[in-house]
Amino acid sequence: MPIQIHCVCCGEIGENAWLVRREGRDDCVVIDPGDEYPKLKRALEGRRVAAILLTHGHFDHIMAVGPMAVDTHAPVYVGRDDMEMLNNAAINGRAGLMGITHMDGPAIEAAPYGEKLSAAGLDFTVLPTPGHSRGSVCLYLPDEHALFSGDTLFQAGFGRMDLYGGSPAQMRDSLRRLFALPPETRVYPGHGMATTIGDERSRYGL
Ligand SMILES: [Zn+2]
Repeated sequence: MPIQIHCVCCGEIGENAWLVRREGRDDCVVIDPGDEYPKLKRALEGRRVAAILLTHGHFDHIMAVGPMAVDTHAPVYVGRDDMEMLNNAAINGRAGLMGITHMDGPAIEAAPYGEKLSAAGLDFTVLPTPGHSRGSVCLYLPDEHALFSGDTLFQAGFGRMDLYGGSPAQMRDSLRRLFALPPETRVYPGHGMATTIGDERSRYGL
């Protein structure tokens, strides 16, 4: 069955939370529940959340993780090298803006780099893409030609490299690997509009 991808734009920074489900099933996966849990809950329309997947540990992508995980009992996955960021306001960017230091509740699991992560009938491949943060990952659905790119790749741009754990050299390598994916791959980023690998690759003359 085909999949449905629904964007809920959350919070002051306009972060994209992605609700992904396979047609004919009543469960779904939530990628980067940034904020505004009541709004996300409405968008779920009563569907069971099979897993919460995080592309990285920055505050604007994780603020609704606590209440959503407590409410749904869904497991939470994040790149292992970003696990330290989730409850550490000093490095997840949250301190100055929110003054909140802890998420309550969820047990966090390490996303299996380079391997399959299956939930709700969706088989994601976890692509490690450091550069924006050490543990940034892109979540790839090869059969559906869909990539959830977090803050690694945007339409007409890529993520900041000057924050905690950022690295221009790693970002260059990560983008090179993403640009090797099929050009028709749809890219669903953490901010802004969706795009394709082919469109983004062509901006760099590749
Ligand atoms: Zn970020």
